[in-house]
Amino acid sequence: MMKKSFLISLFICSFISFEAWSAKSRPVYRKSFLSQRKQPLIRVRVRKRLKNVFVSGMDLKRKIHVNKSSKLFKGKKAIRFNCRGFGKKNRGKLKSPVLLASLKSQTGLLSLGKEKYQGEILVVANHSKPACDVINQIPIESYISSLLSKEMNSKWSLEALKAQAVAARTYALHKMKSNQVSRGEGHEVHYDLESSEKHQVGGSFFDATRKTELASRSTQGEVLLGPDKHLKPIFFHASCGGKTLKPDQVWENHVDGYESVDCRYCLTSPKRKWDKKIVYRRLVSFIKWAGRKGLLRKQLVFTAGEKIRIAPDRPDNNVLRFYVGEELHLIEKSDFRRYFGRVLFPSNYFYVKFNGRKGLRVRGNGNGHGVGLCQVGAYDLARKGKTYKEILSHYFPNHKIKKMY
Ligand SMILES: [Zn+2]
Repeated sequence: MMKKSFLISLFICSFISFEAWSAKSRPVYRKSFLSQRKQPLIRVRVRKRLKNVFVSGMDLKRKIHVNKSSKLFKGKKAIRFNCRGFGKKNRGKLKSPVLLASLKSQTGLLSLGKEKYQGEILVVANHSKPACDVINQIPIESYISSLLSKEMNSKWSLEALKAQAVAARTYALHKMKSNQVSRGEGHEVHYDLESSEKHQVGGSFFDATRKTELASRSTQGEVLLGPDKHLKPIFFHASCGGKTLKPDQVWENHVDGYESVDCRYCLTSPKRKWDKKIVYRRLVSFIKWAGRKGLLRKQLVFTAGEKIRIAPDRPDNNVLRFYVGEELHLIEKSDFRRYFGRVLFPSNYFYVKFNGRKGLRVRGNGNGHGVGLCQVGAYDLARKGKTYKEILSHYFPNHKIKKMY
């Protein structure tokens, strides 16, 4: 392995310099968790692209990975990392993000801004920008119990929270086991998933409640396995509007085991219905965009003044038929949401009515992408006395629950 030496400077209360280190080295904490009885640690990116990172806590133990040094700070301590300085000195020299430091408190929690975290805080320097990412490395069950307040509602019935816990745990463990984020970036990013709507919105220490902790603890280690008995990405959304969708109906990825299932349970939600208009000019722009992106099954030939007509539609149709001149085209309904966004298209469950030159009227139900667990549906099923296992088997009829640790 080629070793690259470079000078790294950090501002940690005062400037400290370090020599030489291989960017390819990797911490040793990521053994195969599936063979462990203990719950694994998950690495969640909680902040990104910070110029400075401030971490404080009692009896902080700071480990600098680049020169393998450790230091214990007795009493209350705040530590600042100047990521701008690090970036300036090393710009162009790094091929992948660098794990600079990890911090833990011997006596309790770590503060990062206004939030408090359990576990460890990792500071990772970005290789292409003068900035750092901050990662919380935490036992997965603590992560799940905080997440339930963010991704669901901590006041909902316990069985709904338990169903959500299993779904979110499976999603997280799949990301972790498959190293999906690092593989996607082409280098080690030092985290398994980010806390955001793109992945899952995690919480901090005070987001966990007795009820969310109970939901996590009473399903500890349980995940949903696909028909091939492997971990698969498990998705969830706020409310499907009447029918869930399969991943390939919304995104490009096919995931084995998913089915589109009927769900009348979220229809009681007061916010379920939505009604929007799209003017003809924007409809034309959308269709041209879909043609450019290769989303239509036939090549789009669109000459100036060519008329567009939309064929009659129903909510259950996943595909919309339309004519450009005399040519029939098909487009996935989920492409509307990709183009117009989540505000105009709160869900993928809708039907359109074509009003000629006035454009489209769009009426829909639900909120979210519609794939997998319908959270409002889970809430309603739990209120009706269903267990989390029954809820999960409704939305994931081909999956089985397995306790991993
Ligand atoms: Zn639903």
